[in-house]
Amino acid sequence: MKLFFDNIDSLDQFTHELDHHPESLTCQHCGSQGHFVPHGFVYKNQHIDHSYEKEPVGKRIMCSNRYGRTGCGRTLRFYLADYVPALSRAAIHISLFFLALITGKPIQSAYTEATHTIDPRNAYRWLSKCQTKIIHYRAALVNRCGTYSSAFNWRAQRLQLLLPTMNDLRNNFSDSFVTDFQLKQQRRFM
Ligand SMILES: [Zn+2]
Repeated sequence: MKLFFDNIDSLDQFTHELDHHPESLTCQHCGSQGHFVPHGFVYKNQHIDHSYEKEPVGKRIMCSNRYGRTGCGRTLRFYLADYVPALSRAAIHISLFFLALITGKPIQSAYTEATHTIDPRNAYRWLSKCQTKIIHYRAALVNRCGTYSSAFNWRAQRLQLLLPTMNDLRNNFSDSFVTDFQLKQQRRFM
């Protein structure tokens, strides 16, 4: 099922054409199809440079139980691929963090370079979360260039595991590989 969209207009349009493709959508809560109605945008306070800005990052639909529809009344969310659900940072910050690590930066400076903030606690959280997803990253790769692995031998063990895969993702997709991954795989990056 589609979860990520590349822009807010196509997501908005999708939620207004729900009756056109009833078989492609199944409610995660009750398993029914064909009772969906649009239900408003999801906003998130995004870190943009040094301030927070409220931006639409997704949209909800409701499995409606009103006006002759017999759904369960609960909502489903769809997202822009530029954002990772449940993270306060945009996808590009995560791509930039890994790109900086790939070029040899220590974790703290890579995080500062990507996010313009100095507290690196998130960096360690990101690394832990990504470690559990490595099998999904590898499944997304068309070409794997294992030759890069030796370039990361001097790094901490978990970076030795993660960085060759992140580098492969960058080479298979683009520098915005977190967004690309979510769009192509229809799966959260972390
Ligand atoms: Zn439902």
